[in-house]
Amino acid sequence: MGERELRFGEGSISGVIAVALGALSLLAVLCFRFPEWLTTPDLRAVYPVPLLRGVLFGAILIGLAASAISFALSRSRLLPMLGLTFCAVAIGLGGAWVETHDPGEQVRYLGLDWFVLDLLLLAIVFVPLERLFALHSEQMLLRRGFRTDLAHFFVSHLLVQLTVLLTMAPAAALFGWAVWPELRSAARAQPIALQVLEAALLADLFQYGIHRLAHRWSWLWRFHQIHHSSSQLDWLAGSRLHLVDIVITRAVSFIPLFAVGFSDAAMTIYVVLVSFQAVLIHANVRWRFGWLEWVFATPFLHHWHHTAEPEAIDRNFAVHLPVIDWLFGTLHRPAGWPSVYGIEGDPIPDDWFVQLTAPFATVESDDT
Ligand SMILES: [Zn+2]
Ligand SMILES: [Zn+2]
Repeated sequence: MGERELRFGEGSISGVIAVALGALSLLAVLCFRFPEWLTTPDLRAVYPVPLLRGVLFGAILIGLAASAISFALSRSRLLPMLGLTFCAVAIGLGGAWVETHDPGEQVRYLGLDWFVLDLLLLAIVFVPLERLFALHSEQMLLRRGFRTDLAHFFVSHLLVQLTVLLTMAPAAALFGWAVWPELRSAARAQPIALQVLEAALLADLFQYGIHRLAHRWSWLWRFHQIHHSSSQLDWLAGSRLHLVDIVITRAVSFIPLFAVGFSDAAMTIYVVLVSFQAVLIHANVRWRFGWLEWVFATPFLHHWHHTAEPEAIDRNFAVHLPVIDWLFGTLHRPAGWPSVYGIEGDPIPDDWFVQLTAPFATVESDDT
């Protein structure tokens, strides 16, 4: 997809807002109608439903208003028509007053609610931040590869049940022997903040190992290189991850957390913080954090991990605590930011399906 420039006064910004909010509203209405198939039990348990209905109401209203503005300003009718249609179908299916029911025990489900909420939340936080504090200010919101990354984001969120299962199952199946009840109770007796820090350190140590291997071992690199193929970084670029890469990296990082057995509260805080950090370190923001950059992974260090500049290839593997890179001699922290991202020669096309399937094809052709 080519870049799409959004300029004030041409109706394209309102058009994109109309389509985005219209589509998200429609998907949210579907979640309310079919909770047994389209919602995540862990999320539903903590939902403030009246607030979510309020947000849905607001989203439909803004979507309609944005469609009207775009109709008035834009020569192209496609975006406002699409936005209006999504909003109209969402309203037709019940809108903010859509009926819902208790889904009971769910055997299989898709994380559509997780997709809608996470995308909305991240866009609300990061789109304005990237406009205000852009590192590469010429970069568009709808940059090259945006649609591809959105497809990765969509699929990895939909398949949350499967990826969580595949993340946890290997540790439980292979490392049950490593669970030591005394360690578990000692770990859980610590303050939550300390547990979170220890979890981040242990998980990142294991992540460092598998991540470094992924850059070394061609079998793993085939999958991991998808993540490195973005030529521009922003809040959505970190979602460009092959499902095999997601599962292997998370499953390995989960082994020490499983073995130690931190408290549920500590694990929840850890997951929320690192999910946010994973987005932040890819964001197109020019923030520097001084000495804190030695302590926590920040955009600066991870941008260098994504550069195509030879001096920084295979550097900055840590995604939580850069001290690990410093310990193993792979920290790269020059004065300025990198200017080129991606892989030399740009070998990966911006196509979600090709990115998903090509690594398997390469594996097969190598085996024969
Ligand atoms: Zn990497
Ligand atoms: Zn990355």
